[in-house]
Formats: sequence, C-alpha cells, structure tokens
Amino acid sequence: MNLRPVDAPAVIPDNGRPANGPVVMKFGGTSCEDAAALTRLARIVADRGPEHPVVVVSAMAKVTDSLVELARLALAGDIATADAVIARLRERHLTALRELAGEALPAALAEAEAAVHGLLQDLSELVRGIAAVGELTDRTRDAMLSFGERLSPWLARLALESAGLRAQIVDARHVIVTDAQHTHAQPLYPESQRHADERLVPLIAAGVIPVLGGFIAATSQGVTSTFGRGGSDFSGAILGALLGARRIEIWTDVDGMLTADPRVCDGVRRIKVISFQEAAESAYFGAKVLHPSTLLPAMEKSIPVWVLNSRADMKILSGPPDGQLTGTLITTRAPRTRSPIKCISCKRKIAVIDVVSTRMLQAHGFLQAIWDVFARYECPVDMVSTSEVSVSLTVSDTRSLVEIVDELGRFAEVRYEGRKAIICLVGESLRNTPGVAAKVFSAMGDINLRMISQGASEINIGMVIEDDDVPRAMRQLHDRFLVDLDPAVFA
Ligand code: ADP
Ligand code: ASP
Ligand code: MG
Repeated sequence: MNLRPVDAPAVIPDNGRPANGPVVMKFGGTSCEDAAALTRLARIVADRGPEHPVVVVSAMAKVTDSLVELARLALAGDIATADAVIARLRERHLTALRELAGEALPAALAEAEAAVHGLLQDLSELVRGIAAVGELTDRTRDAMLSFGERLSPWLARLALESAGLRAQIVDARHVIVTDAQHTHAQPLYPESQRHADERLVPLIAAGVIPVLGGFIAATSQGVTSTFGRGGSDFSGAILGALLGARRIEIWTDVDGMLTADPRVCDGVRRIKVISFQEAAESAYFGAKVLHPSTLLPAMEKSIPVWVLNSRADMKILSGPPDGQLTGTLITTRAPRTRSPIKCISCKRKIAVIDVVSTRMLQAHGFLQAIWDVFARYECPVDMVSTSEVSVSLTVSDTRSLVEIVDELGRFAEVRYEGRKAIICLVGESLRNTPGVAAKVFSAMGDINLRMISQGASEINIGMVIEDDDVPRAMRQLHDRFLVDLDPAVFA
C-alpha cells in the first residue's frame, strides 16, 4: 500500500483549446549551464520554430545548490563567505552573457548585465536580512532559492536573440499562481489560466517566444513560492496544460527515461515509450529525471510529454520528435512488453518508523491517531505495512522526524532507523504477470528486505532495504528483469 498526498491538481479549467497549441520546451540546469549549452538550446528551439515554442528554463546547473548554501551562510551570519558565493554567481552569469552576445548585440547585453547586477544586489540584501534576524522561514527560503530561475531567463533570451529569434522574458511569478505551501506549493489553475491567457497567448500569437524561469511562482498575494527541488519540470507541465500545448518537451542530460538511474546502475537502456502512470510512479519513487508532480497536468489534458537529451547529436533532433530516433515519449497508453518491468527506481536516504501500539487505543483508533500526526506535520508517507498492533512506515522528508516521533511516543512505542532506501519496480505488465514477486525475491538474493509492498495501482512493487545495498540490488534486479527487451519499447 502506498500512502501519499493525493496531489492531483484542482481541476484545470477547460480552456476550450484543442491540444494543438504551442510546444512547451523545458530545459534543465545542465542544458543551460554555460554559453555552449545555451547556444545548443537556441538551436533546438529554432528547430521547433513553426510549432510556436514556449521556453521554460531552470537555473544554471548547481546554482540552486549555491543558493541553498547561501541560505545556510546567511543564517550563520557568515556574510564574507556569502559575498564570495554571490561574486562567483555574478561572474558565471556575466561570462555566459558576454560569450553569448559576442560583438553583435550590445544593447541586449547591456540590458541583461544590468538585470543580473540588480538581481544579485537584491540577493545580497536578502542574505543580510536573514543574517540580521537570524531566522529562515520557508517563505524566505523560497525567495532565496528563486534567484536562479530569475537569472537564467536573461541568458536564454540572449541565446535565442543571438540565434536570430524573437524572445521575451515573462516572469513566471506573474503567470503561475499557487497556494501558500512554501517550498512545495501547488498551482491554482483558474487564476493561472487568466494570467496565461493575458500574458502568454498574445505573445505566442505574435510569433514571439516567451521565456520563463521554471520552479518559481507566486501566491495570490504576490509572494514568491516554489515547487520544490527539481520543480521546473512541473512548471513546464503546468504551462503546457494552461496553453493547451500540443507537446511538452523536457530537455535534460540523458537520452530520455532510462530503465534505471545511470548513476546507480550500469547497462541501462532507453525506454522509447512509457505510460503516464508508469512514468509517474517511477518519478515518485526517485527517477529524478522528472519532478514527481510533472505528469499530473499533462495527464489531465492528455498532452504527450517527451524527455530528450539536449547534448545529443543535433542531426537527430531536427523536426518533431520521433520515438524511433530519440528520447522517451510519455503518453496515455504504452504498448505492453514481454518484460513485466520497464523501470527500476530508488529513493535513497529515507527513514523507517516502527510504531507499536501500547494497547491504549483500539486498532482503528490507533491507525487514526498515527495518520493525524503525519497530517499535522504535512509529512508524506511513502510506504506502509501494518499488523493489528504495529505499523511500519517510511518517510523521505525527515525535517519533522524528531517532533513526529515525540508525538507518536505519547500513545505508542516508536523506533526509527535512517539510512534506508526504497527500490521500486514499475511496469503496466505487472498487473497480469503472475509470479513476479517470487522472481524479485530470488533476484535480491541475500539482500535483507525490511518492508515489501505492491502498490494499489498494481503497476509497482516496492521494497525497503539498507541504503548501502542499493547499487547491488539495482544491478541484480536489472540483470534479472531488463534483458531480452522488446525493440519496439526499449532502445
Ligand atoms: P535537469 O537538470 O535536466 O532537470 P536532473 O538532474 O534533474 O536534470 O535529472 C536528470 C538526471 O536524472 C539524470 O542525469 C539521471 O542521473 C537521473 N535519473 C534518475 N533516474 C533516471 C531514469 N530512470 N532515467 C533517466 N534519468 C534518471
Ligand atoms: N533549479 C531548481 C533545482 O535545482 C529547479 C529545477 O532545476 O528544476 O532544484
Ligand atoms: Mg530536474
């Protein structure tokens, strides 16, 4: 059983548009990490010219990590080190801008340089403000982390203009409206729809490419919010749904969705086509290539999503994407495969909490009391297994763990252990392939399984193991299940 917040979007209004609108192209951090990457980005966008591209960019690679570090330095009152970090950010952005503009675009370069200086001045003031009050709320953290995606559109715009394209920056915070759950905001679609109609549709109609930062949005009161780490994918999908996009493209640093994370497992293969449900389960259980919420708006509007490699050979990128050539198509229905599993993902560094009833409560009251605690701390539970007197559950957001354990301890015995991981096998064909669980157990060999669950969606099997065992488990499972693959589905 999986318990997670049902974060299905509040219904996206029917904007009456058939899904043959623009193509929304989201570029991740490595796809805009320097002038060379941004030049490739511009060529890819130029390729989509007749399809009315809308460009969504992440912060340059590692910039958000630097902002997280800045927040820490600000809290510690270490202004000198913080200033050095800001100086490096300034240098990196200005260098890329100058390389992109060359001699050709002095006015556009001057405007972008002024914007970068202005934004980094604001960042510096925010750092000083945090140091002065010695406190960092989630709201201020969102403000801090937003700077990467406020800077990067200036780079993307200059790259597009250098390639002879007409582009205009639109502040994502003036388009996407969210609730006030800072650091993990949820979009409010009706309000966002109005803004998209007013600010994006006329630009697209005029043949101008809107350029927006991903990850960031604003509450109805205009306060900056974010979708959580990796959230630019979600921004791309939200905009795709609002604009009735014909296609959403997620441009990244790997060839598409792969059978496992190549950083954890050797011999992975590209998945050519995968269903929304399969991709969503894999993303939720750790396939970092997509933010877990990305597919909800696309699914609701049946917009195909492609995952593509911005570093791939440019020749194969010409024209609309074609599953035979490159990338992964994520769509409503994907063909069944011989292998019951398409993808193995892992969520690492999670905690397992065991809660044992002290019999003060009846069984049903016991479960209710447990869920109440997790709900109060807005802490999603990924996996659960229960008996009448005990419940084991896993959480990946361990920020409130101490408080949660303390509260549970008022009516139960509680133990918790860190350094665990969930491994999740996903595939539509799991539904009607008997005996997979036995094969999984035999593939795991002597690796200790702490918890096991088959999702209600029937398309995943999850296991909790020691984090240290992850590489070995992934390899053993991959070798057992992802061999002799259908060429129609796997490259
Ligand atoms: P971006 O900055 O483009 O958003 P991310 O780093 O967020 O890129 O996501 C891409 C990374 O996701 C890949 O480099 C890869 O290591 C990791 N990844 C994890 N699981 C998968 C998977 N199943 N398929 C592809 N990539 C995966
Ligand atoms: N820049 C943000 C991050 O690093 C969002 C994203 O890249 O999608 O988490
Ligand atoms: Mg990402």
